[in-house]
Amino acid sequence: MTLENPPFVAEFLPRIQRLSVSIQLAEELESCSLSSADELQMTVKGGARYAFTLPHPVVEVSNLVDFVQNDGFCKTLKLPTPILQSDRVYLDKSNNVLMTKEPKWDHNELARRRSTRSNTLVRCANCGLSLLNLSQVTTLRGMPSEIWAEMMEYWHCHKPDEGNKTNSTVERYGNFTPSPGGLLVGPYYFLVDKSILHNVGEDAECLGCDSVLGETGTSQNCLKMNKWSLELYDGNSETFQPYLHALNSLENSVGCTSSRYFIVELEKSKLLVWVFGYGIGVSSLFGHGKGVVQQNCLKVFYTDDEAQIEKFRSEKSQGLASRELEVLDFPSVVMVDLIEKLRIGTSGIPDGVRKFGFWNVSYLGPDL
Ligand SMILES: [Zn+2]
Ligand SMILES: [Zn+2]
Repeated sequence: MTLENPPFVAEFLPRIQRLSVSIQLAEELESCSLSSADELQMTVKGGARYAFTLPHPVVEVSNLVDFVQNDGFCKTLKLPTPILQSDRVYLDKSNNVLMTKEPKWDHNELARRRSTRSNTLVRCANCGLSLLNLSQVTTLRGMPSEIWAEMMEYWHCHKPDEGNKTNSTVERYGNFTPSPGGLLVGPYYFLVDKSILHNVGEDAECLGCDSVLGETGTSQNCLKMNKWSLELYDGNSETFQPYLHALNSLENSVGCTSSRYFIVELEKSKLLVWVFGYGIGVSSLFGHGKGVVQQNCLKVFYTDDEAQIEKFRSEKSQGLASRELEVLDFPSVVMVDLIEKLRIGTSGIPDGVRKFGFWNVSYLGPDL
């Protein structure tokens, strides 16, 4: 019989075409085989059988069991992989994978949904009440990304002959309001002109279930609706998990500024995050009994240990470590979801590899 899986992680690094697997199994192996190009089967003494889905197909080898190393309570393997068409984007060094990635529910996706014949409704994620029909949106635009706004700010206030230095990023953002019938797509929210909204109260509450969908907008005529309070419905409904905003922001920063270290702050809690790699294919438990595959993940090291964070910070400020440390600021819903997703990721990884020094190891994928 096939059992629920023990903690395991299979990681595919596309740039070096390497697939490595670690499985928390102390028992002696009876057999090890590939049931398909991307499924590894193991039977241990006593007859228990496990099946692990891999994030990338591997090359068939005749003596698979020879690839298995016993590493304490872990079985580890490194397996050769064939190069797929989808890997080529990573092998082309001139291609910035992170910059060309399209975030979920960005203005391109909404524009596509608006132009297809099947209507997309924006509904309350809590009760399903319809709030907006995308086909009624007259102008649909993306807000400049936060990075873009910061670069504009930088460019603006460092121009040598610039007299007026008072415009802050916030003020610039504040200047963006949707035109009548319009919708502006922000990183984690929609700014929607009130004239096309239905069933939404003055304080951005759902008139069906009273749940809070957002807040007042940048002008009297619009509301700021949080993506995670909404669902897109075109026969199937799709939701937006809050951590996705954090994932997009991290990918943006790594892609644009090549920062790798981040402090995420919320009131009293702090998280130090090190983005160790990106574009990684992973399968691991991720809170599921048999595990799931996540493509295009960030490999993330993190800690919430305040002493370690302070030590790391002071080393940075003394110039002992040369890399930039960027401070990120997320709404609390995003922070809470991010921490939960990181913890679930860590707990599905075998004991021996879920820590790296004082860092916890986790993966952030697009569909956790
Ligand atoms: Zn400046
Ligand atoms: Zn509702």
